[in-house]
Amino acid sequence: MILHLNQGIDHSVINSLKDKYQAIHFALGQKDVLVTPSKDKQVQAGDEKYVEQHWVMDSDIQLASSKYMPEKRQIEIANNLSIGGNTGNTLVITGPCSVESEEQIETSASFIHSLGIKVLRAGCYKPRTSPYTFQGLGLEGLKLLDKVRQKYGLKIITEVKDSSHIDEVIEYADIVQIGAKAMYDQGILKKCAKTQKPILIKRGFGSTLQEFVQAAEFVLSGGNPNVILCERGIRTFETKTRFTLDLCGVAYLKEYTNLPIILDPSHAMGYSYGVADLTRACIAMGIDGVLIETHPNPAVAKSDASQQLNHEQFQSLYQSMNAVAGAVGRKIV
Ligand code: PEP
Ligand code: MN
Repeated sequence: MILHLNQGIDHSVINSLKDKYQAIHFALGQKDVLVTPSKDKQVQAGDEKYVEQHWVMDSDIQLASSKYMPEKRQIEIANNLSIGGNTGNTLVITGPCSVESEEQIETSASFIHSLGIKVLRAGCYKPRTSPYTFQGLGLEGLKLLDKVRQKYGLKIITEVKDSSHIDEVIEYADIVQIGAKAMYDQGILKKCAKTQKPILIKRGFGSTLQEFVQAAEFVLSGGNPNVILCERGIRTFETKTRFTLDLCGVAYLKEYTNLPIILDPSHAMGYSYGVADLTRACIAMGIDGVLIETHPNPAVAKSDASQQLNHEQFQSLYQSMNAVAGAVGRKIV
């Protein structure tokens, strides 16, 4: 259950309600909110006087549920740039998988800026599956991102891999990405609940939709309402593509959650040849954004080389996006 408490209730009463219902308590602006386990279906006799409004929930998808909040949450990305709500915006986020050098990120940022794209994404702490491959530039990479952010007025999205660098990432990023492999890391999720910066959570490739949205619940119930979900492909029996982009799951998330949804066709496909078609299919789903990996010279990329688009390929894809977005009543931003 979600309980919105009446204003002005004594802290000791809130604490005793919290204990009685084994609830999580957080503040939503001036409002105190309690979230109990979803198996609780009733406000107990005598407690009604403390409760302004309450919602009985079917599962522990609670704060993220469209039953609680039928409108999509609106999340501000920059001044005059939001996604979700009734904005109808589909945000384009692009950039290389990793920050590799000053020259590479400068070329990427200048290209993105020349197209009028507002959000650059690149990783500095890479969750590689082998310890012998490029692991990212770390803090040096964050500083390079900060430099191009200032030069081009871009917003930066970059990922946190583990707790060792979470404070730096929260400090430098405009949007914090929690990668697919880190989706279950509750230390990261709880820390991301303590900032108000938007948090983009990628779906673990072996996670059910329930587990995915419950990861978001850790951030929401810790007091950060700015959560974005990112479908990036799940593992199936198929090996010809890197993962399988779960568009059925996206339809579920659109229907049953109040969180903006961004799709990442690059990591799902794993090969550049499929990315443009998939991106258009994603946009046709009427979602809040796409995340596409691009690199000035994909052949020499230090991570995810096979899936990144070169700038020419991306530009031609970008030009085709408006027509698809327009067909489903949305606009590319
Ligand atoms: C990435 O975004 O570069 C990345 C590593 O993605 P994922 O966490 O989805 O594997
Ligand atoms: Mn990548």
